[in-house]
Amino acid sequence: MLKGNFSKENEQFVPIFGSKNEEIGIPKYKLRKNPISSEAAYRLIKDQMSDEGNSRLNLATFCQTYMEPEAIKLMSESMDKNIIDKSEYPRTAEIENRCVNIIANLWNASKNEEYLGTSTIGSSEACMLGGMAMKFSWEERAKKLGLDLTKHKPNLVISSGYQVCWEKFCTYWDIEMRTVPLDEQHQSLNTDIVMDYVNEYTIGIVGILGITYTGRYDDLKKLDALVEKHNENTEYKVYIHVDAASGGFYTPFMEPELKWDFRLKNVISINSSGHKYGLVYPGIGWILWRDKKHLPEKLIFKVSYLGGEIPTIAINFSHSASQLIGQYYNFIRFGEKGYFDIQNKTHSVARYLANEISKFKEFEIINDASGLPIVCYTLTKDFNKQWTLYDLADRLLMKGWQVPAYPLPEKLNNTVIQRLVIRADLGMNMAQDFVQDFKEAISELDKAHILFHDDSQTKKYGFTH
Ligand SMILES: *Cc1c(COP(=O)(O)O)cnc(C)c1O
Repeated sequence: MLKGNFSKENEQFVPIFGSKNEEIGIPKYKLRKNPISSEAAYRLIKDQMSDEGNSRLNLATFCQTYMEPEAIKLMSESMDKNIIDKSEYPRTAEIENRCVNIIANLWNASKNEEYLGTSTIGSSEACMLGGMAMKFSWEERAKKLGLDLTKHKPNLVISSGYQVCWEKFCTYWDIEMRTVPLDEQHQSLNTDIVMDYVNEYTIGIVGILGITYTGRYDDLKKLDALVEKHNENTEYKVYIHVDAASGGFYTPFMEPELKWDFRLKNVISINSSGHKYGLVYPGIGWILWRDKKHLPEKLIFKVSYLGGEIPTIAINFSHSASQLIGQYYNFIRFGEKGYFDIQNKTHSVARYLANEISKFKEFEIINDASGLPIVCYTLTKDFNKQWTLYDLADRLLMKGWQVPAYPLPEKLNNTVIQRLVIRADLGMNMAQDFVQDFKEAISELDKAHILFHDDSQTKKYGFTH
């Protein structure tokens, strides 16, 4: 969120040291009257960004921070292509079509159904589309059954480990978000109680593969069975959308037998982020429906294409096709085996880190890279040193590593955890360096003078040395 800065209207910055450009000032918060040279503009901006984090040392994000030089070349060469302009760029449109088919195959869509899908900017846009399709389909079904649609708000059922995009969806569309709490025994969707949250006004249930906080997978096979049983006994059918933002391009290679996708009858749509384990730079995402009957007609719009018309369902209109091209490059370049090798290596690095961290008596491991390749840990119950995970995060940041510490959601929010997201570009060598920095950080904290902080105030902390 960006705020007005008029009070600083006259603040200027000075472009390039040691050159005659140094003499001209450039206002920071309004346009300068005259242009500057392209070289000076480049240097200026490049220099300004030089104190930002190093993305490869950022263990907080699922988003890709590495692509091959050939992919980057292709992507910069296609930056000017507008993905929506299907008549000017029919080849690009065909590439998107191929990607949808590749992904449908990966997610085991049935040849007997008419699957369809689209690329998006990311999972947030994809979830919005998935949510809207569920809402409008529900409306159609409920109307036919004579339900009074004005009596209650429609609701969406999801675990409290949801990502913020679902909260946005529910706010934008005035939908009641019914969150099934996570607790000590249920660190993913609690299938013992989930169906208690469902009624005639439920537009759908969202399953998560995996949960952003802990990397765990919801038990979708179980959920599908529960939904099947529910649907046998009521006219008010519900269906499942799977938010596989992180798992969609990981699980199919690592656990091909795990049923979470279109092999489950009641899973009608799935989204994933191409820029997470699809191995593309941000932003690209995908959503697919198992059959066109689950995508209401009114969400399908037409754009012109080679003199004819082509349907479009994405929310965003113009944007560059380069991420799509990057996704296609990866599919062509890696194939199944390549994706497996990359994800498998990522997984071994994650296991190595989980194992190293489990050797510290200070920590209890919450996720050891089962599910997504992420490692989560918390301080043990009898931990009695003065520092917190927030202090450790600070200390690691001094060494360049970004490792967040945060409380878990609803009912578990007394537990503060730290999370490492392992990505393809964190090789074993870097992981070993991390372990060394981690050990040093802990021994420095053990010896440091810590400012007192009240345990109950998990987010207030101080550190001095
Ligand atoms: C990351 C994530 C999202 C949002 O994805 P973007 O591609 O960043 O928009 C949604 N749901 C889950 C479970 C996620 O992990």
